[in-house]
Amino acid sequence: MTSKFKQQAMTYMTGNLTCQEVASIITEYLEGAMPLSTRLRFHLHLGLCFSCRKYLKQMKYTIQTLGKLPADPISPEIREELLRRFRHWKQR
Ligand SMILES: [Zn+2]
Repeated sequence: MTSKFKQQAMTYMTGNLTCQEVASIITEYLEGAMPLSTRLRFHLHLGLCFSCRKYLKQMKYTIQTLGKLPADPISPEIREELLRRFRHWKQR
């Protein structure tokens, strides 16, 4: 199996979302602003991607520790902070 094929198979199985895409829409998901079709693909990706699942858990925890309820809109500052953390986490 070539790595390109593997990559394509992985993309298909994870709902055509890459981990980077999941990262960019994760705040929409947490805000409940995500359209149903995207949410389904998001869940599909999470179901197969351990690292994103772990990240979502960390996100929720971070929001809690920042004193924000998940149902509240996420302020741009917190959104930036979360995305900054995600980038760091991905680079490790
Ligand atoms: Zn992922």
